[in-house]
Amino acid sequence: MPYTAEIIAVGTELLLGNIVNTDARDVSVALAQLGINVFFHTVVGDNPARVKAAVALAKTRADIIITTGGLGPTYDDLTKQTVAEAFGKALVFNEAEAEKIRAFFHDRNLEITENNFAQAYLPEGCVIFDNGVGTAPGCAFEAEGKRILMLPGPPRECRAMIESGLVPYLKTLAGEEIFSHNIHIFGMGESAVETRFRGVMERSVNPTLAPYAKDGETMLRVTARAENQAAADALMSPVIDLVRAELGDLIYGIDTDTLENTVVTLLRERGLTLAAAESCTGGLLAKRVTDVPGASRVFRGGVTAYTNAVKTALVGVPAELIETYGVVSEQIAQSLAENIRERLGADLGIGITGVAGPGADETGNPEGRVFVALAARDGTWTRKLDLYYDRERIRAMAASHALDMARRYLTGAADVV
Ligand code: ATP
Repeated sequence: MPYTAEIIAVGTELLLGNIVNTDARDVSVALAQLGINVFFHTVVGDNPARVKAAVALAKTRADIIITTGGLGPTYDDLTKQTVAEAFGKALVFNEAEAEKIRAFFHDRNLEITENNFAQAYLPEGCVIFDNGVGTAPGCAFEAEGKRILMLPGPPRECRAMIESGLVPYLKTLAGEEIFSHNIHIFGMGESAVETRFRGVMERSVNPTLAPYAKDGETMLRVTARAENQAAADALMSPVIDLVRAELGDLIYGIDTDTLENTVVTLLRERGLTLAAAESCTGGLLAKRVTDVPGASRVFRGGVTAYTNAVKTALVGVPAELIETYGVVSEQIAQSLAENIRERLGADLGIGITGVAGPGADETGNPEGRVFVALAARDGTWTRKLDLYYDRERIRAMAASHALDMARRYLTGAADVV
């Protein structure tokens, strides 16, 4: 059975909302890596009775209790004193720690006061965690079948001690770590994905499968607990294969960052180039592609063809075509894509025209109606989109759809649209 842990963050500032509990997050991330389940985060003020109550409760539901904050002289060693008492442990004076405190103040030419030595009192029989960044040491001890660890509050000190103290101390205990793979999906929403895989999600314990939504995309995370990466991969592969078989071309990558990364990589691998003529996205597609290091090898350039005059003068969209079909139309998207491809000498051309809103355009196209076209040597494809979001999201999604069409074309997917 995996170990369970509870994190108790001590600090009235946290309860007042003055600071965010980043220490608990940092500890949780480290524990997840170690394969230790965190079931509770508790936040308690600088009050001995309530800290004691929090520890008493944590004892009933966790194997490992980790406190953060309240170790320094400013809080009269509230955490150490209280937690030690809760486990019937005395605090004992540690001469080596006292010497470190003396040296710390001496080196910095600071005046030392008696309360600074409070930090040299530590629970009997504990393992001491050096504080490489500040003065208050952390510690860990075993009592009543539990492991108790105390870390300092300042995030920099806490993070350093997680690495140097907590991880080595708990590693021997945990034996297993958590590994995961992210399956990136475009074109199917989180709830649809969840519905499709609900059975697998409910049945799976190791590995687990969970959906996440971000920026109009969906991600499925497969997570396994194992001794090492190879053992974890052996557990995860069948689940990844199953998702692949179900979703096919809807998956644009595994452990890849973004759609634009995927497209740039594919273009580079195939030695092909891209150009774009964008209206309603105002250059967003070009921005996203050029965010990727190495894009200069594959992105020829783009035109923000916002007005009709520019669409005609710079991209070569015939004025009569705009007159006949309206600027937000399949024909104009295609003309933008085909002309920019030709004018910039690229293998692939993208054209985007639409209504980002708010509100409909003067010819009655509703907000969110966008045509995205992809032109290549062997054909031109168009997606007609009706996006029900705000202006920013409509533009982002239009650019994402263009990238999705490009990656479908480049991977030889069954259909580009
Ligand atoms: P010090 O030696 O500085 O007194 P300490 O271990 O006693 O350290 P606290 O006094 O409780 O820790 O907190 C010091 C500072 O660290 C707080 O003012 C706050 O800015 C930050 N801090 C404390 N707890 C947390 C937390 N859980 N998450 C993020 N920051 C925290």
